[in-house]
Amino acid sequence: MRFDVLTLFPEQISSYFSQSITGRALKEGIIELNTVNIRDYSNDPHNSVDDYTYGGGAGMLMMPGPVYDAYKSLNVPKDTRVVYLTPVGRVFDQKYAIDLSKEKEIVFICGHYEGIDERVIDEIVTDRISIGDYVLTGGETAALVVMDAVSRLVPGVLGNETSFVDESFYDDLLEYPQYTRPEHWMGKDVPPILLSGDHAAVDEWRLEESIRITKELRPDLYEKWAVSHEEYFIKKEKKAKREAEKARKRAKKLANTNDL
Ligand code: SAM
Repeated sequence: MRFDVLTLFPEQISSYFSQSITGRALKEGIIELNTVNIRDYSNDPHNSVDDYTYGGGAGMLMMPGPVYDAYKSLNVPKDTRVVYLTPVGRVFDQKYAIDLSKEKEIVFICGHYEGIDERVIDEIVTDRISIGDYVLTGGETAALVVMDAVSRLVPGVLGNETSFVDESFYDDLLEYPQYTRPEHWMGKDVPPILLSGDHAAVDEWRLEESIRITKELRPDLYEKWAVSHEEYFIKKEKKAKREAEKARKRAKKLANTNDL
């Protein structure tokens, strides 16, 4: 996977990305990162890339020319996804990350000031992505959020290929609580089921915890999950009926024994 980032602050991107898991992926060549300084494509004697907005209004806007020339310098195939990070975009989520992780190369454009002239966005951008309903000073942090989430879905970036399958949002559920050593800490114990060695029981506990937490914290996600997991509720109802039947039989047996 190759990321090309058009930005006025290339060092913000490279310094973050060269650390930790993404840093290792870069070193191992699983991810390639190429930053392009939009200012290098200014055609103004003062190297400026922004100007006043037509129609008035506070703040400056990035001019279309330098952004376009920076993009052209990449010489990417015509079908390459070009992402503009903007509050006026589709809100990024895990499904969007999964979709982007299937690409070979993605170009990111980071805006600054009041944003970028609309004409160059119309000309080259395929995806407008927002990372949430708030306004940042620049697109760099937003590009890093998207690149980080996409990278960890690229095969080989996480040590364990299945790591992300258990994580929050993979199946519209939030992750269950996790524990490590020590077993007792500040009067709090690790749930005994996790020490039982019974893998099926652990899986069941984790699913129930995921459902509980999602229902409590993100009812919107829970509703989505519930609609597409009818079989879970059917199975649960059958299990409850079986257990009620067992309890009824036990009570009957006990009553018969007492009658003797
Ligand atoms: N005037 C713009 C508006 O009201 O929509 C905001 C411009 S913002 C100050 C400067 C740049 O930060 C944008 O061009 C964009 O690249 C980035 N940005 C700000 N908030 C963002 C968000 N929520 N998601 C993605 N990018 C964002």
